[in-house]
This record gives sequence, structure tokens and C-alpha cells, in this order.
Amino acid sequence: MTTRKLIGSNKEFPIGKIVCLARNYAEHAKELGNETPAAPVLFMKPASSVIADGEAVRIPSYSQECHYEVELALLIGKLCSGIQADRALEYVAGYGVGIDMTLRDVQNQLKAKGLPWEIAKGFDTSCPLSDFVPASAIPDPHALNLKLAVNGETRQDGCSSDMIHRVPQIIAHISAIFTLEPGDVILTGTPAGVGQVRAGDVMTAEISKVGSLTIPVS
Ligand code: ZN
Repeated sequence: MTTRKLIGSNKEFPIGKIVCLARNYAEHAKELGNETPAAPVLFMKPASSVIADGEAVRIPSYSQECHYEVELALLIGKLCSGIQADRALEYVAGYGVGIDMTLRDVQNQLKAKGLPWEIAKGFDTSCPLSDFVPASAIPDPHALNLKLAVNGETRQDGCSSDMIHRVPQIIAHISAIFTLEPGDVILTGTPAGVGQVRAGDVMTAEISKVGSLTIPVS
């Protein structure tokens, strides 16, 4: 079972479902030629896609174009169903760093055919995920700098203040559809600057006050 620690406590959470937002930063939606959605666009990754800091992303043989997307990750701390936005932050145990690895060529083919995205988004190793800092350490989740570098060169440099749907609204929206359980994770979307990695590259992802990941690609 994959687990993640809440840093500074003895709490460890078994990772459950990972609910992800697409197109939650306007500049990123634009760079992929997508409209900015009125309601959050959701998809999921299985817990089996999670890898830890230092582990390698393995690009599946059916893709020629694997992209990185650095994202602020929310760790759900208690059972959460039908929660109003004004209470939603009470259900966040911690904040972490995630990379939503995406097979862009496969995703584009699936999109064109109106098919689901799982094989482009949920393959083994597609979710590098850090441990989590306690929510009490992050008074404002919309004031965080998100960065991703490939081989030391900065590719993404954004701020969570640019999210279209904010953390409380995201949790309210998702919890009206899917009951969230302790250990479930929400990936809140990626800022602009996504791009391709190849075998041999090393990604470093960093979110201010939250943490970092160093992830090789093989
Ligand atoms: Zn993403």
C-alpha cells in the first residue's frame, strides 16, 4: 500500500483515489488550445500510479510525448461528502507537491475521439507525490509559487493565486460527486509551461513552503 506522511506528526495516510482538475489555470488552458471551463473538469489517477521522491517515471511504449505538469496536491484528512465551500478547508490535512505526468499524444487522440483519458493520465509512475506539510503551516493555499525545472532549466513558474477554481470551491464541487476519504488526494491543476521530457531527463518540482521532488525519467 502506498502511504504518505504528514510531516512533523506520526500520522501516515494510505493513498486512495486521486482526483485531478484539468484546465484550472487560464494560461495553461490557452497553451493547449482549450476553453476555460465554467465547472471544474475532473479525471482520476489510481493509487497505483504514485511514486515517491527519487523514483523514476517510466514512459510507456505506446507514447512518444510525455509531459510534466507540476501541481499543488491536497491531502484529505477526514471523511468529506457534500461539504460547503466555507467549511472545506477543515477537511484538508496537508499540502504536497505532485506531478501529473501526461501522455499528451495519447490524450490528444483520446480527446479527438471523445474517449476517456485514463491510459494517458493514470499509467504506472504517472503520479510523483511528496509527503505533505500540515495544513496549519499553509495559511493561504493561493499564495504559493509552483516551479518545475528539467535538467536544471526552469520550465514552469506560476502562482496558485492564478487558479480559476479555488481550493474551497474545488473541494465543495468534488465532494458533491465523490465521497472523499482520509488519504484521498486532489491535484489542483497546472500553471502554463508544460512540455515534454525524455528518458535521461531529471525533473525538479518545487512549491514554496510545501516541498520538492526530484524525479528522473527512464
Ligand atoms: Zn494536470
